[in-house]
Amino acid sequence: PPSGLTTWRGPHTGRCQDRRGLPFGSSSVQHGTAVFEGIRAYASCTGETALFRAEDHLTRLLESARILGIRHDLDHALLLDEVVRAASEYGEPNCYVRPGLFATDPYLSIDLGRLSFTLGIEVWPMPAHTPETAPPGARLTVSPWHRPSPLSFPPRAKAVGTYVTSALAKTAAVDAGFDDALQLDPHSGRIAEATTSNVFIVRDWTLFTPWLTDSLLAGITRDTVITLAHELGLAIHEGPVDMEDLESAEEMFLTGTASELQPVASIDDRALPKEHPVFDMISAAFQAAVTGTRFTRQRWLTPVPTS
Ligand code: PMP
Repeated sequence: PPSGLTTWRGPHTGRCQDRRGLPFGSSSVQHGTAVFEGIRAYASCTGETALFRAEDHLTRLLESARILGIRHDLDHALLLDEVVRAASEYGEPNCYVRPGLFATDPYLSIDLGRLSFTLGIEVWPMPAHTPETAPPGARLTVSPWHRPSPLSFPPRAKAVGTYVTSALAKTAAVDAGFDDALQLDPHSGRIAEATTSNVFIVRDWTLFTPWLTDSLLAGITRDTVITLAHELGLAIHEGPVDMEDLESAEEMFLTGTASELQPVASIDDRALPKEHPVFDMISAAFQAAVTGTRFTRQRWLTPVPTS
């Protein structure tokens, strides 16, 4: 590997820059002080495998590390190389690759600027959705657990520790018989996002999604949907999304790398219409984009060589 990086193939499918793996005493394990990304690979229409928007995910990973003050010696080119290598070694075209930066020292410290961080990559199988296997519409509730305030945690950073908030909201929602929960921005009380995905509503053939000034992750799938919606000639508004907007929504859907695009079937006891023409249109464009059938941006697809 470049730059003298030692890579190590773990007991599962993972790779770790550090031969020792991750100690249990690592601050990343003990305190959630790590940053990560989830990147999907798809079998493309040409029969090759390609990672979808890997370059953008790795830009976000480096930005997350910068925000948290994590010191490391990795750059974008090296990260891309390692992620491609992990997907290539995994060998299955449809998979989910999760690179992260983790503290390697077993020190009892949360001073991230003085801990060493290593790159770890885990890969899971993740079959592409087909119309037959696509998950049914999500039954949502509105969580009493708000997103962390931007005064407590920068929402642009995708850090392990913040997922405890998502886990609280998700667990309570599932315990109450729902699939997932919407979480509110703590200051405005508006809709921010779902526990691991961004949110869109549709009214009069127009898409609305919460703006990034509220407390939500700047999802890469969210950005893909916005780009595709423009190409399809749909109007799109990034702005405040209030609880009242949910009442008048004709369609609603969630976006995320792992879950892709999923329609929302209901919010608490309000069922949304079963027909969702705008979702269907965008979903078809999305499937075409991830498999390379629809050409949108050259750098959205990173080829994965077959080993
Ligand atoms: N919000 C949260 C809290 C998430 O965990 C995710 C999944 N990464 C998203 C939104 C969607 O982001 P992306 O489309 O980049 O996967």
